Amino acid sequence: MAAHPAEPIPLQPPPPAGGGPLPDAAALRAWAADLALRHFGEPFPGIVRWAPRLRYRAGDYTPSTGVIRLSVPYFVRYGAAEARAILLHELCHWWLFRRGLRHHEDAAQFQALLAAHGAPARARPLARAPRGRLRLYACPCCGALYRYRRRVAYACGHCCRRWAQGRFDERFRLRPLARTEP
Ligand SMILES: [Zn+2]
Ligand SMILES: [Zn+2]
Repeated sequence: MAAHPAEPIPLQPPPPAGGGPLPDAAALRAWAADLALRHFGEPFPGIVRWAPRLRYRAGDYTPSTGVIRLSVPYFVRYGAAEARAILLHELCHWWLFRRGLRHHEDAAQFQALLAAHGAPARARPLARAPRGRLRLYACPCCGALYRYRRRVAYACGHCCRRWAQGRFDERFRLRPLARTEP
């Protein structure tokens, strides 16, 4: 089956749910500045941003780029206070790397730092996306097939990029076909 030749263009971004409105980039910067100053006495020089589809962990820090990512699904499930706690966990990673201390998640030094700052050692569990039957969609223009577990209002990414400057275009809205395997 020829599936997923291109990412589809969502009709609209996924709505924020339980966590309230998603704090914007300026709010994230303010969180990081506040936590870094209070806990480490220095501003955080990197970037904090949301990761819209990060589910297998609540956040991460990449030393080479200085970027902290926070999971949107985690925020939606647990709210702002938990997201800030994860940010503090990632700042603990930053602090060790900043001092030249390479480490991994289970390193005793890192665990001790987390404990000293009251940061969580582990994220709370994030339920997997609910399993439903797979729904099959096809692009009315190029015939590309897409599969989703939920009902979606997407347009074909390939055709939107080719014919609509990458914007959502009603002409390429995916049409539901039959349901497939459970
Ligand atoms: Zn970690
Ligand atoms: Zn198409």
